[in-house]
Amino acid sequence: MPYYCDLGPGQKVYLDNPGPTTLITLASGSAGQQQQSSTQIHTGPWTEVPQIARVGSGALLRCVTAQGTYTWQIQGMQIGAAPTNAWVADQATPMQATEVGLSSMASMQPMAPMEPMAPMRMGDMQMSMNPMTMRMGNMTLGLDAPAASTQQFCTQCGAAIAWGDRFCGSCGHQLHQP
Ligand SMILES: [Zn+2]
Repeated sequence: MPYYCDLGPGQKVYLDNPGPTTLITLASGSAGQQQQSSTQIHTGPWTEVPQIARVGSGALLRCVTAQGTYTWQIQGMQIGAAPTNAWVADQATPMQATEVGLSSMASMQPMAPMEPMAPMRMGDMQMSMNPMTMRMGNMTLGLDAPAASTQQFCTQCGAAIAWGDRFCGSCGHQLHQP
């Protein structure tokens, strides 16, 4: 679970703990003009929620793991190790958990292919795929033409035939379609 904190206008710090490392990512700027800097430190898995403390124009981060306590200093876009005694416990606050997977954002990986959509509900709007239907209030939009049910077969030999064919491509039997 990644954690984040707003550092100032347009600047955020994200902390993630993938496996035995702590990944610190600084992001600043607006959309389109994003600047990012990441540091990965071998710390072991966290045993506590990471904390952040504001100091001067920067911030201190602290992670506690089975291997010990780690403190880092953030100044601008720089991340550096800080002495443990730099930590100011009375100004510290736990970082907020975020659903956003920052590790993928930091390395600019292409987005994962979309999972098949589960039916979803938003207010009184309901949408489901396969067959595609959408319900908003009392109105239903549908696309009820699953391929399987429109597939036609020759009445003579049973071969699959295309919609609109007048003769079976397999045996030549004349087809009677609407
Ligand atoms: Zn046929």
